[in-house]
Amino acid sequence: MTHEELKALDGQYVMGTYGRFDVDIDRGKGATLYDLAGKEYIDFSSGIGVCSVGYGDPRWVEAVSGQAAKLAHVSNLFYTQPCAQLAQVLCQRSGMAAAFFANSGAEGNEGLIKLARKYSFDRYGKGRGTVLTLKNSFHGRTITTLTATGQEVFHNYFFPFDEGFRYAQAGDMNSLQAAAGHDVCAVLLELVQGEGGVLPMEKAYVQALAELCRERDWLLLVDEVQTGVGRTGTLFAFQQYGIEPDAVSFAKGIAGGLPMGGFLTHARCRDVLGPGTHASTFGGNPICASAALAVLEILDGELLDAVAEKGKYLRRRIGQMNLDCLGATRGLGLMIGVEVKERYSNKELAARLIGNGLLVLTAGRALRLLPPLTISREEIDKGLLILERTLS
Ligand SMILES: *Cc1c(COP(=O)(O)O)cnc(C)c1O
Repeated sequence: MTHEELKALDGQYVMGTYGRFDVDIDRGKGATLYDLAGKEYIDFSSGIGVCSVGYGDPRWVEAVSGQAAKLAHVSNLFYTQPCAQLAQVLCQRSGMAAAFFANSGAEGNEGLIKLARKYSFDRYGKGRGTVLTLKNSFHGRTITTLTATGQEVFHNYFFPFDEGFRYAQAGDMNSLQAAAGHDVCAVLLELVQGEGGVLPMEKAYVQALAELCRERDWLLLVDEVQTGVGRTGTLFAFQQYGIEPDAVSFAKGIAGGLPMGGFLTHARCRDVLGPGTHASTFGGNPICASAALAVLEILDGELLDAVAEKGKYLRRRIGQMNLDCLGATRGLGLMIGVEVKERYSNKELAARLIGNGLLVLTAGRALRLLPPLTISREEIDKGLLILERTLS
């Protein structure tokens, strides 16, 4: 099939909810992708933070194909080994106590919200179901997680939205105090706002917020759908903030390209959701769980340290280019935002970079870089060369 044939087919039969770039992708190896015509692209996007271990890693391929041949799926009415082992590894490496598996980030966050409301209901009864979230956050596309998302642009068309959410200014404890009330059961936040523009939270703010949660018996819920699974240089970003969340969601990078999401709970609330209170048909699926086990094996301590190093290197090199259109860089590990100057459009810059063979993302007004965590120095340098040549 040619690019034009594919584009016509997609245009006719796939619902037009995405503004696609004029590029198709056919295959990949490492952090390098190829289109149908064989053109090469360096990947600074990992899908959207999904392909954490790049493309075609033999350990990942072996885990997925081996499990596919053995057992693709059985319901959650039965025990399966990959699911239990994955929960164990996630808990041991995060200090959390138990895992629930679903299939996406939004579902992971729905789980956090259900957990907080039931925790509060069990202790205090009705009328304490409000979750505080932050302005400029992003928590997903279901009606509830859209409501949780603290950006007015998302609160459109699909009325009525849910009750039970209020929004505080990110980084501002006074705003959080002002949003507090007797009806609150939890705070939900991203430690680095991803879709909002790659904006890391201040450590002091996060610790003060955690303290307030403890005082009021609100659950501290961290959305690590984008920051989790090694993206920021530790398995979860909360491990760099000196806090112990009550629950943490994950998704994107967990299974290295297969759909999986879910959440982990602290020992304090591991038994809140008992039999029959929450479920997912596909959650903990053996193929996805095997893929995730391979991802976590690849993301050992050494590799996570390398993530932090690669992030610093990328930011230093981009800073040194002194490009007219770009401002300062920010972020944590390999989650990087590059400020785009006022008179330039990040979408236009991204389209030019992609056209020249470098896949990048946008977020807020910034360019956003989320390369595979396993990207090689050679691939990083190739990508940086494209960036410099395209934008200077
Ligand atoms: C991507 C994202 C989500 C939504 O994940 P889906 O898998 O698309 O449902 C939620 N929260 C954050 C922080 C995200 O980056």
